[in-house]
Amino acid sequence: MHPRWPYHSLDLAGLKAGGWRPQPFREFVLKVHQRCNLACTYCYVYESPDRSWRERPRLMSDEVWRAAGERIGEHAARHGLAGVRVVLHGGEPLLAGPARLRRQVTAMRATTGCELRVSMQTNGVGLDERALAELAAADIRVGVSVDGTAQDHDRHRVLRDGRGSHAAVTGALRLLASEPFRHLYGGLLCTVDPASDPVRTYRALLSHEPPAIDLLLPHANWASPPSGDVAAWLIAVFDEWYAAPSRPTRIRLFEDVMNLLLGGSSGSEQVGLSPVAIAVVESDGDIEQVDALKSAYAGACATGRNVRTDAFDTVLTHPGVAARQIGVAALADGCLTCPVHRVCGGGHYAHRYRPGDGFRNPTVYCADMSRLIGHVRERLRADLTR
Ligand code: SF4
Repeated sequence: MHPRWPYHSLDLAGLKAGGWRPQPFREFVLKVHQRCNLACTYCYVYESPDRSWRERPRLMSDEVWRAAGERIGEHAARHGLAGVRVVLHGGEPLLAGPARLRRQVTAMRATTGCELRVSMQTNGVGLDERALAELAAADIRVGVSVDGTAQDHDRHRVLRDGRGSHAAVTGALRLLASEPFRHLYGGLLCTVDPASDPVRTYRALLSHEPPAIDLLLPHANWASPPSGDVAAWLIAVFDEWYAAPSRPTRIRLFEDVMNLLLGGSSGSEQVGLSPVAIAVVESDGDIEQVDALKSAYAGACATGRNVRTDAFDTVLTHPGVAARQIGVAALADGCLTCPVHRVCGGGHYAHRYRPGDGFRNPTVYCADMSRLIGHVRERLRADLTR
C-alpha cells in the first residue's frame, strides 16, 4: 500500500476501465548529494516545510547508485524504452565529487542496458576546469542556475557566509560556454523575481551565450502566495525574445506555450497537459515525486518505496504520480471551463496546493498564466494573419 495521500482522491479503477494506462518514467532525478554550498533565499529543499533532508545521508552510497541503475534498467526493459534521461541533482551534485560522478555514471551506463542521457543541474560554484574535464569524460551535460544581473543574482543566491555567488558562477559559465566544453552546455535555469528588471535579467542571461533558458516560477501555493506582477515580467521578456530577428536562445516556457497554442504538446511540467514522467531517487534510495512538492507540506513527495526493494513500476499508480499523468481528469472544476486550460494545464502541480483542500485547484499563478497565454496568443495571431 502507498502511504496515505490526503490531497488528490482519484478513481484509478475507473480511469483504467476507461482505457487510461500509466506512462513509464522517462526521467530519473538522482539526489547524489543532499547538502548545498549555497543558502538561496527561495530554496524549496532547505527553506521549505519539509525537513526530511536532515535525516538522509549526505552522499548517495555506491549501493544506492547500483540499485538505482538496476531499477532504471529494469524499468526501461519492461516498458521497451530505448533511452531515458538521468539528472544528477542535490543539494549541490558537484559536492559528491566530479571524479566520483564520472565513475558512477560510467558504471551505470554499463549496467542499465539502455541509452542514458545524463545531465546535471548545478549552482556552478564548483564548476572549474578539472570538474568539467571529469563531466566531459562521462558525457554529462550541464545546466547552471543563475538569476540574471550580479545584483539580482546575489540578492538570493548567496554563499553560506552571506556573500553573493555571481562572480564564481560567471567564471564557471565562461569556461562552459567555451571550447572544449561548449558541447556540455545544457542551458541556464533562472528563477523569476518580479522585483528585478525583466529585460535586464534576460540580457544578463544572454551574455552567458546559453543554448536554452528555463524560467522557473518561484514555488508558491495558496497558503504562501507569490508577490509581484509575474505576468508583466514574463510578457516583457517574451516580447524582447520574440521580437529578435533571429532568436539567440531557446526559452522553453515560451516555446511550450507557443507549441500548445498551435496544437502541439509541451515538454515541461509548468504548462500543458502532457503526462509527467519523472521519478526522484533520494540519497538513501527513497523513490519520491518531484521535490518541488516539498514547498507544499512536509512529506508531500513521499511514496513509501525505495530502489533497494521496489521497482519504479510500484510508484506509477501512486495517486500523486497518477494525478500528473491523467491530464484533464486531474483539473479543478474551475480549470475545466477555462478557455486556456489545454495550454495552461492548471499550472505546476506544486503551485495548486491549498491546505485542507489539496491539489485540485487552479495554480496560484492562475491570473498570471491566463495573461501570459493571452498575450502570446495575440502575438501569434497577429503574425499569422499578417
Ligand atoms: S488559467 Fe487558471 S483556470 Fe485556466 S487552466 Fe490555468 S489555472 Fe486553470
